Amino acid sequence: MRLISPSRSESGSVWKGGSGVQRNVSASRQLNRDPLEKAARRVDVRVNTPAHVVFNALVLGRGPWRRAWLPITAGALTPDLPMFAFYVYQRGVLGAPEAVIWTHAYFEPEWQLLFNWFHSLPLLALAALLAWRAGAVGWLAFFSSMLLHSLTDLPVHHDDAHAHFLPVSSWRFESPISYWDPRHHGYILGVLETLLILAGATALAAGSRTKPWRILGVVTLVFSALFAVYAAITWRSTPAA
Ligand SMILES: [Zn+2]
Repeated sequence: MRLISPSRSESGSVWKGGSGVQRNVSASRQLNRDPLEKAARRVDVRVNTPAHVVFNALVLGRGPWRRAWLPITAGALTPDLPMFAFYVYQRGVLGAPEAVIWTHAYFEPEWQLLFNWFHSLPLLALAALLAWRAGAVGWLAFFSSMLLHSLTDLPVHHDDAHAHFLPVSSWRFESPISYWDPRHHGYILGVLETLLILAGATALAAGSRTKPWRILGVVTLVFSALFAVYAAITWRSTPAA
């Protein structure tokens, strides 16, 4: 998930990208807000959490899990909850500019560790296995949904990739494809993601599934529309260089 990101092609003097956590930590100690404010004058808007909600609903919410809308939806949302908390804290409490949030604070080790643990494939697989062995169907659906979220994050993150294999390994797969970064096919991925959300949420809203799935489809469409308005306002109000 990335709520709003600065156009990194314009922030080259501040942040070079592809650096991993440590370089950004040292950079954050030399915070220079003016260039960062300039870097933020163009923002790319990305919220891919609704895509996870829709995709997981379409993939998992069928057959025996047709009625498991709550654990599947919660599982699709949960891996990104630390990032929502991070954004609210940085923006709402600290009042940090968008560029500072996404080029410095996001890469601080403490935050990265939290994001990574919530996307840990070994831990989520183990939790799903334990739920299956215990016959806890709801928890199995929940952890399976978290697992699917993490698996689908894996191929679409470049230099903001999670360490998906903690605690076994801290290796990060830097995919050549990014769901948001235009240097790594982010525009086309953004279009495809938007199509997935609109088509998938419409299918849920109009489909023959149970009522909660239909409500989820409507809620996703409304949320996406509201966020598009928020993003447009944020983009317009971001100070020009
Ligand atoms: Zn995620």
